[in-house]
Amino acid sequence: MNGPEITLEVAPELRLFVAHERRAGRTALITDGVSTLGHVVESLGIPLTEAGVLLVDGGPVDRSHVPGAGEHVRVRAVERPQRVPGAPLRFLLDVHLGTLARRLRLLGVDAAYESEDIGDPALAALSARERRVLLSRDRGLLRRREIWAGAYVYSDRPQDQLRDVLGRFAPALAPWTRCTACNGTLAAADKDAVSGVLEHGTQQAYDVFAQCTACARVYWRGAHHGHLETIVSDAVREFGGAAA
Ligand SMILES: [Zn+2]
Repeated sequence: MNGPEITLEVAPELRLFVAHERRAGRTALITDGVSTLGHVVESLGIPLTEAGVLLVDGGPVDRSHVPGAGEHVRVRAVERPQRVPGAPLRFLLDVHLGTLARRLRLLGVDAAYESEDIGDPALAALSARERRVLLSRDRGLLRRREIWAGAYVYSDRPQDQLRDVLGRFAPALAPWTRCTACNGTLAAADKDAVSGVLEHGTQQAYDVFAQCTACARVYWRGAHHGHLETIVSDAVREFGGAAA
């Protein structure tokens, strides 16, 4: 390219996306003189879902700004908590994030998840159709124009992924109200009404309290592993919500 030269500085949180030589503060960049700043940022490897305020010489500009010679561009990380206007906050997770999906559901957060790989176009279309924030660690998927909203999941460890998503979007927590298997909502259940689906030992030992309105799976008190209780209490302590 033989266009204007700008300088560029990327927020520390976003440096994992850019080439190694761009991670240390301010670097020079030759642009083509016609591309928008949004395009320039994306071409550096930063998904636009992760770019927050863009500053030129200290002042905020739109992504459609075409950088000119000598401008100093700073790319901030997206603000936390991030507001997603236009629809109730709900998520769609890609095929690699099953554990995160189940943990979000455990906390009552609407988290659709496809356990089969339906492909990037279908996932993006689903995000658009149901207005779900697409969560993924796949930058290519997050670059798809048709997604309604998206967010990169920064860690590959489920407990860090959960803190990342809860801290970023601050969803309302309602533990034990959603089916961890299918994302359906739970309704109070009477033990006698569901006794047919319980094994005898279970029926004697536990009190049934809920049944999934979508898949009919039965939930009972006392059957939760200690680590699920811990996930719930840790999340509620740090991110709020009513503990059940
Ligand atoms: Zn269910």
